[in-house]
Amino acid sequence: MGVKVAKFGGSSVADAIQLAKVKSIVESDPQRKYVVVSAPGKRFHEDNKITDLLYLCKTHLDHNIGHEQVFQVICDRFRAIVFNLGLNLDIEKEFEEIDRNIRAGASEDYIASRGEYLTAMITAAYMGFDFVDTKGLVTFDERGRFLDEETDKRLREELKKHDKAVIPGFYGSKPSGEIKTFSRGGSDITGSLVARAVDAETYENWTDVSGFLVADPRIVNDPRPIEKISYMELRELSYMGASVLHEDAIYPARASDIPINIRNTNEPEHLGTTIIAEVENHDADKVITGIAGSKDFLVIAIYKNMMSAEVGFIRRCLTILEDYSIPVEHLPSGIDTISIVLSRKKVNGKLDEIIEEMKRRLQPDSIDVYEDMSLIATVGRGMSKRQGVSATLFGALYKAGVNIRMIDQGSSEMNIIVGVKNDDFEKAIRAIYDAFEGTPEKK
Ligand code: ASP
Repeated sequence: MGVKVAKFGGSSVADAIQLAKVKSIVESDPQRKYVVVSAPGKRFHEDNKITDLLYLCKTHLDHNIGHEQVFQVICDRFRAIVFNLGLNLDIEKEFEEIDRNIRAGASEDYIASRGEYLTAMITAAYMGFDFVDTKGLVTFDERGRFLDEETDKRLREELKKHDKAVIPGFYGSKPSGEIKTFSRGGSDITGSLVARAVDAETYENWTDVSGFLVADPRIVNDPRPIEKISYMELRELSYMGASVLHEDAIYPARASDIPINIRNTNEPEHLGTTIIAEVENHDADKVITGIAGSKDFLVIAIYKNMMSAEVGFIRRCLTILEDYSIPVEHLPSGIDTISIVLSRKKVNGKLDEIIEEMKRRLQPDSIDVYEDMSLIATVGRGMSKRQGVSATLFGALYKAGVNIRMIDQGSSEMNIIVGVKNDDFEKAIRAIYDAFEGTPEKK
């Protein structure tokens, strides 16, 4: 029987009620033997995440303001969880030790990691699983760089000794024993590392949404959930801003061909979205997998007669951006034109300088700048084999009165990106969604 690793995010462990759901999910499937937890997240909109409060403790200390008050709020949340779960666990001893270390000048990473540490300890006691600390297992070098192979080796060796375990997400340690965390949201990475180390059949990532949706529910009314998505499609959609999973959580599972299943702790019967290497036998009705987009790009459109015959033109153009350390997001080109799509944030007020430099070094016939552009990616593995996809997409935008300023079809043929004015962003996404996913009458 294969093993499943179940990682539960902040909202899934936010209080005792949520933890009771976690326990029943884990117990409902004997394959769920390894559980990775985040720190308690928000219980309601205005609530605080424990990790944010832990960082706040550190900020207080850095400004010579006592951390006691914030620390008490944190302890009280854990006390309530232990009490409401009816556990006989000496959590006070843990608080004392953490407080002692904080007073002795513990690092920010140590303080931030204690949310996961305490949550894993409590969850293990509640479920009757072993608690396996990631200190000494998830390893970083002294400079803080993550050591992938070493981590895999250590996790494998240790987890063999435990039939069932709860493991804290988010952190590991350096050779000196000093705690080091991943970036925010990093418990997803720990989950993926554990899944690889136990050769899991599936890595389940339990959160508060039932997987990915075809489009953003804040823009499209009740979008269809995505059942299966390939890693490549996910990468394209996350680039455009669709995010549920930490980006670095993909590679350990992907390298070992372990599917990642995004599930909802509050709706456990829903099968969520499964991320896999290649999606075969995809449903013939579903042309697109997802639509995602981002606002605030800018486009520099350069025109020069006979550009295509000029050796090194594009290189010189890109060198200018490299000099300013600005990454190029897209580069659609025509015979004598090239459009460079950049993120407005990354250009960071340097636009005038860059244009001057381009005029000087490239001697173009004209340069136009469009500053308020959104990009919308329509992604789908089924698109390349099908006729009429672009016709449907462009037709829908035309009918909605959206002017397309740029078109870019990725070389993977899995993706059509259109650039529209920021003001047309939502309207364009709704039009594309309706064209591909609307009811037949609506089509
Ligand atoms: N608790 C950490 C954070 O809020 C890590 C995680 O939840 O993945 O970023």
